[in-house]
Amino acid sequence: MAKKTKRKIAHPKLPMQRQLNLQHEGKYFDLRAIFDRLNERYFRVRLRGYKVMWGRRQKRRPKEYFIFGTIQEEDRVIRINPLLDQPFVPLWFLQYVLYHEMLHSVVPDEVGSDGRRRVHTEKFYRREREFPNYRRARRWEEENLARFLR
Ligand SMILES: [Zn+2]
Repeated sequence: MAKKTKRKIAHPKLPMQRQLNLQHEGKYFDLRAIFDRLNERYFRVRLRGYKVMWGRRQKRRPKEYFIFGTIQEEDRVIRINPLLDQPFVPLWFLQYVLYHEMLHSVVPDEVGSDGRRRVHTEKFYRREREFPNYRRARRWEEENLARFLR
């Protein structure tokens, strides 16, 4: 009984609103603010009802490749890898990662000649390159990838 009480004190329950905020507020970056700005500037506020949040921290860092972000269209959820919430990550790189995921919601998938579904189509890549910091971001990714892997 005493143990239970102690635990309760050590982990006070946060009000609901606060819990929701934590999903997009990182220690260094607020994904909501970045999303809203990109939505206005590059998508004419076309992305509606999207939730953007930091993903769960994985116990182990990946060895081979790193997933920066994902989009779940059915639920309209964009998740960004929480390892990007670090002071050495430039804002324009995080913007690029988010821009890439947002682009998936406006550029339709295509079925290739092999019958397989493709999300990174020619059209997708063309639009991705329109992002002002595209080259800079890709270079940064190449140069810093090792910092995110084991
Ligand atoms: Zn993609």
